[in-house]
Amino acid sequence: MTNRTKRGYDILHDAALNKSTAFTAQEREALGLRGLLPPNIGDQETQMRRALENMRRKHYDIDRYIFLSALQERNQRLFFRIVMENIEEIMPIIYTPTVGEACKEFAHIFRIPRGFYVTAQDRGDIRKILDNWPEPDVRVIVATDGERILGLGDLGANGIGIPIGKLALYTALGGIHPRHCLPIMLDVGTNNAELREDPLYLGLQQERLSGEAYDSFIEEFVTAVKDKYPKALLQFEDFSTPNAYRLLARYRNQILCFNDDIQGTAAVALAGIYGAIRITKMALKDLRVMFLGAGAAATGIGALMAAAMAEEGLPEVEVKRRLWFVDRRGLVTQDQPYLSAHKRPFAQNQPAMDFETALCAHKPHVLIGATGSPGSFTERIVRYMAQINERPILFALSNPTSRAECSAEQAYRWSEGRAIFASGSPFDPVHMEGRVYHPGQGNNAYIFPGLGLAAILGEFTSIPDILFSTAGRALASCITDQDLERGTVYPPLTNIRTVSLTIAEAVLDHGEALGLVQAKLPPKGEARRAFIKQQMYDPIY
Ligand code: NAD
Repeated sequence: MTNRTKRGYDILHDAALNKSTAFTAQEREALGLRGLLPPNIGDQETQMRRALENMRRKHYDIDRYIFLSALQERNQRLFFRIVMENIEEIMPIIYTPTVGEACKEFAHIFRIPRGFYVTAQDRGDIRKILDNWPEPDVRVIVATDGERILGLGDLGANGIGIPIGKLALYTALGGIHPRHCLPIMLDVGTNNAELREDPLYLGLQQERLSGEAYDSFIEEFVTAVKDKYPKALLQFEDFSTPNAYRLLARYRNQILCFNDDIQGTAAVALAGIYGAIRITKMALKDLRVMFLGAGAAATGIGALMAAAMAEEGLPEVEVKRRLWFVDRRGLVTQDQPYLSAHKRPFAQNQPAMDFETALCAHKPHVLIGATGSPGSFTERIVRYMAQINERPILFALSNPTSRAECSAEQAYRWSEGRAIFASGSPFDPVHMEGRVYHPGQGNNAYIFPGLGLAAILGEFTSIPDILFSTAGRALASCITDQDLERGTVYPPLTNIRTVSLTIAEAVLDHGEALGLVQAKLPPKGEARRAFIKQQMYDPIY
């Protein structure tokens, strides 16, 4: 439907309305577009072909990223259709790994402002400036303070690329209309001196707010969001781990929110483990799992896995003996000084030991890396895992690809092709001794779009942890035997919209049973699934 208040040139410069060469003769006449477009009228398919040809001609992914960003600003529906119909090719460009490069380069590739900036200088005015955002009905906000962007550290205001990328996935994969999406950069400064000294840097050139100043800034922001967009889901993204846990604990029962690094990662990893144990034919409660890294991602997975093991009837003391965490200081033990709160539930009553010693002592079936430290699954480690397990389960989750604990090729080569491997960022299939191995991508993009869709359609009051188990199980239910035969523990990305629909339905049903739903929904079953599908954004014109 064309907006009747805009005409001519203005329509061509409104990304939500623009169809460019696909405007029909009648539309060109009615909207005052004659003369403003080349005469040959094309359809969206032809435009897609042209745009893809242009994009593929570029030599570097960062240039493809820039090209796609410009397309999104020019013709939103064409952009989203291209993403949706070419997801395996495009997701690594608009999201990890290329988005990592785009964030690092942000100040140098900047063309037009995108997203919304709330800065330390806006204190006292945050509610007022939110009125500058043009869309009145925002339903999903992804906000970061840029302190831990992927595994790349403090990138300050350059981190805006992450909320922009995630919200593009909310639309492309979860079908949430772009006008309901708001990417926010909370610029509280940066402790990255190199960035601050870059003359092209676009963020506040000051050290990060901390302590009370930081907390009151976030409090003002959350209060403003609650007032301006009371139905919005707020996704906390790429905060430092202590802040990630603190903010989630403080706000999870005050507003509709979640932290994707802790909770989304947990759900996607749990789904991958459910897939992997269908190959190894073990019960979840019988697994011994070792985590390299004990930050937000790893401990989030640990907590959800502990809950899932307990649900299978494993007593709490036993659960603790199944989950082992190793960080930079070695095995996480109770007598480690300055143990952060998020590690405490997993601290073992054991002597201090390094990673290799812990591995030999506890012989895990599953090794999960979430360190941001590339190469930390060494050849010795992978070979040892393959020595003690017929099918070692190795998840190298650190992003972007350059930060993965080991590559897919290394995992397969060092385990003689026996590893069940998944990573956070994509790896190409590996060809080895006449066989092809297909690594799985444990990307949170499998979870948050469907979960978010459920939360906003149901107008949930909150999202308890149990719904992340539900989402993880729903994702696992989409893994077919053929996927597992190919060695991958996730469904193909090409199915991801159906996966999102399945997750949304499961989460809505469970949310309703828990009394979290405020919206009026069609009854469970076919009618509800059809309703969800009908709500999903369709970019075709
Ligand atoms: P974090 O900084 O909170 O945690 C990193 C942890 O790794 C810390 O406990 C640190 O001590 C430990 N560590 C670092 N180097 C180590 C080494 N060489 N040996 C042992 N331990 C080491 O970060 P986080 O939020 O937990 O994220 C970690 C990584 O996980 C990032 O690269 C992030 O991109 C990735 N991640 C992946 C997914 C996914 O794949 N779905 C989701 C979220 C985060």
